[in-house]
Amino acid sequence: MTHETRDRMTFAEAQQEPVRHDELLKAFRSILGTTHVHTDFANRLCYARDRLPWAAFQIRRGRVPIALPAAVVAPGNHDEVRAVLRLANERGVAVIPFGAGSGVLGATLPLGGEIMLDLKRLNRILAWHDADGMVEVQAGMNGGEFERLLNMRGFMCGHYPQSMKMSTVGGWAACRGAGQESTRYGKIEHLVRGMRAVLAGGGDVEIRPGPPRAVGPSLQELLVGSEGTLAVITALTLRMFPLPAQKLPLTLSYADLGSAIEASRTMMQAELRPAIFRLHDDLEGRVKFSGLADFATHPFVCLLEFHGDPRLVAVESSMARDIAIAHGGKTGSTQPFDEWKAHRFESHSVKAQSEDNYQDTIEVSAPWSRLEAMYQAMRTAVATLHPAIYFGTHWSHAYAEGACQYMTFRLPPMPDDEALAIHAELWATIQHLCLEHCGVISHHHGVGYFRSPWIARDLGEGAHEALRAVKRALDPNAILNPRKLGF
Ligand SMILES: Cc1cc2nc3c(=O)[nH]c(=O)nc-3n(C[C@H](O)[C@H](O)[C@H](O)COP(=O)(O)OP(=O)(O)OC[C@H]3O[C@@H](n4cnc5c(N)ncnc54)[C@H](O)[C@@H]3O)c2cc1C
Repeated sequence: MTHETRDRMTFAEAQQEPVRHDELLKAFRSILGTTHVHTDFANRLCYARDRLPWAAFQIRRGRVPIALPAAVVAPGNHDEVRAVLRLANERGVAVIPFGAGSGVLGATLPLGGEIMLDLKRLNRILAWHDADGMVEVQAGMNGGEFERLLNMRGFMCGHYPQSMKMSTVGGWAACRGAGQESTRYGKIEHLVRGMRAVLAGGGDVEIRPGPPRAVGPSLQELLVGSEGTLAVITALTLRMFPLPAQKLPLTLSYADLGSAIEASRTMMQAELRPAIFRLHDDLEGRVKFSGLADFATHPFVCLLEFHGDPRLVAVESSMARDIAIAHGGKTGSTQPFDEWKAHRFESHSVKAQSEDNYQDTIEVSAPWSRLEAMYQAMRTAVATLHPAIYFGTHWSHAYAEGACQYMTFRLPPMPDDEALAIHAELWATIQHLCLEHCGVISHHHGVGYFRSPWIARDLGEGAHEALRAVKRALDPNAILNPRKLGF
């Protein structure tokens, strides 16, 4: 693990750190205006973390997670992004693209004096392509605002991360994220149809929007998921969908995990595409579904929602019900689904952290054939780490070939040293067991800083070295988000 547990700078010590790069900041002020260049301590401290739980553990003890950034700069358009990058590149000063800081892997953590490039002023819709089902939006637009504007026009974006209202569309693409309705509408890489971006040296990239192309390898695919290390995305053309005529929820429950997984696999391989698919284990279910009539005998609860023309919804939902019953499943009240949906964009981690718990989430994915064995191995291993550890799991984002497994862990209040050691072991154990079971170490949160130790094992050393060569070619001075993605 690279996450050293040494004592970190206190806020008071950090406040004494001198402001660096005076000349460069002067140049930025002349391009962006003085109100868009911040060097005060409060701003630098705010941008010294994202939503990485490990960083929250440091912050609540009054310590800076790793380091302060040198400054926060906020360009207002593509040309200003280019101008900032050109100057930073000339002087070899590192820059971290910043959306809304909702990432949970430390992808925007400054590691020592970088410039934070806050993109939230790039917040306009640039073009509607209603007939083609596409919209061009600047990268810094807030996700909730984006959806609101689409809804006003009779469309929806189809990408609903839990963090939708606290993240940007550029951050979605940069992290290769997935929304809660990805099983029908796709992950973000399936929704991006065009892109504008600026390379480290200030070069422009414009990928013209359109249907899929076969014109050489896809630069767009390379930049989606690049987590700010290869380019700054300034605008995206995304697919959009007409608002569905009907949305029909369905609650299913199963006696055991094997039946639940087998039924879900059968549904996906029968080409059913529920917009929402969430299968919860008995531990997570105890908190959410113990009021359901069949919970005592059928504690593996699956929430589904089908979207579209009522004829399609009727066929898909009745097929899903038949498949569930054939696997010993039962149908139940949709009340738990309604409750989940009413609160689906709220975050509970801040409360857990502020009560001095050590809470974190890890998501991975695996093929159907390995999912149950992987889960059981993780559940057994985690239980040995601490007698009071909470471990709850659900599977969401299902495909014909497998599904994402999302786990929440919580340790009660205890001395930091003890908790951080367990936390580190927990991460190492989960990522190791995932790889052992042919899984993928991240389905949608990305790699950032915290997952970097495992990236080469997941991709393969050769593939990771090829990506490092791409990084050297596109960013020879290594100014874009250094030391993330294992670069
Ligand atoms: C409560 C909670 C729930 C979450 N739920 C989900 C979920 O359901 N699905 C999901 O996928 N994720 C989820 N996340 C993780 C996170 O919200 C997403 O990864 C989100 O896409 C990050 O967007 P952001 O704008 O906040 O990016 P940031 O956190 O600001 O940045 C993340 C990374 O993207 C880079 N970046 C940001 N914008 C740009 C740009 N314009 N150009 C180049 N690089 C850029 C940054 O450099 C960094 O590497 C959740 C997080 C929280 C806290």
